[in-house]
Amino acid sequence: MLWICVGIAALTTVIAVISVYVREQKLNDVRLSIEEALDDLPGEYKEVMAADHEALEEAQTGENAYAGNPDPQDRSGTANDPKNEKNGNESETIDPNGKLVALTFDDGPSMYTEQILEILNEYDSRATFFMVGYNIEKHPERVQKVLDAGCEVANHTSNHKDLSDISREMIKSEVYDNEKLLNDAGAEGELLLRPPYGLYNDDVKDLVKRPMINWSVDSRDWKTKDAALTVKEVKKNVKDGRVVLMHDIYASTVEAVRELVPWLINEGYRLVTVSQLYEARKEQLKDGHIYRFTYTAEEFAQK
Ligand SMILES: [Zn+2]
Repeated sequence: MLWICVGIAALTTVIAVISVYVREQKLNDVRLSIEEALDDLPGEYKEVMAADHEALEEAQTGENAYAGNPDPQDRSGTANDPKNEKNGNESETIDPNGKLVALTFDDGPSMYTEQILEILNEYDSRATFFMVGYNIEKHPERVQKVLDAGCEVANHTSNHKDLSDISREMIKSEVYDNEKLLNDAGAEGELLLRPPYGLYNDDVKDLVKRPMINWSVDSRDWKTKDAALTVKEVKKNVKDGRVVLMHDIYASTVEAVRELVPWLINEGYRLVTVSQLYEARKEQLKDGHIYRFTYTAEEFAQK
């Protein structure tokens, strides 16, 4: 009897080891093909590839399943510090047990930013804007307009370069020069970063002493430039606790936002900034870590 049990245990172990090996091989092949493809792709396609790349890395390491520490710790000096109330973290009462979603807008500010702010304002909603240096320089006053709307201003680097493909010195200047530019335009303190294309490597994690916010819902507005398709993509994938990727540089995105905001509210969502989202669900954002979503209300209640 004993040797049968031992035999079954040994067999189970062998099967488990083989299946893990096969899975890792598969992931590795896909990862390599994505890396090769990234080298040849025009810039805008990188964003989709990056999302796949990231999902793979997560599957391989398991690191980002809940990237962050669920235990409340010393939060002083972090980008979502409750003291940093001036930037998208006003002391609004947010019920962590209700459905929350963070809309994010990249690559602005532009002429469309103010139109999006007007829609958000109409529905008493908030969002986060990850801004690039070359657009901030053209219209630094747009930074203050975003802040005045109770929204969050965040960093998307000076020149929108792939941070995983430049020198350590360049990574630092791309990130911190742009943060300085945003600070000078009114967004005080340490700011959340979204690396361009969602791409990062160990150097980026080491040098960026800020939380990095990617996304868990890609509206694909940058690819389709079609309001109806953007709306459809978000409606299909949005869930409580998620971060939605959009771009405030297309007219089609403004039209999509005009439809999406009332729809989300009607579905019971509250639209909050990234800092508010993580603050409400008590997930501490740590420097040099990547985040894509947070706990759902159910998971939060069970913590
Ligand atoms: Zn971008």
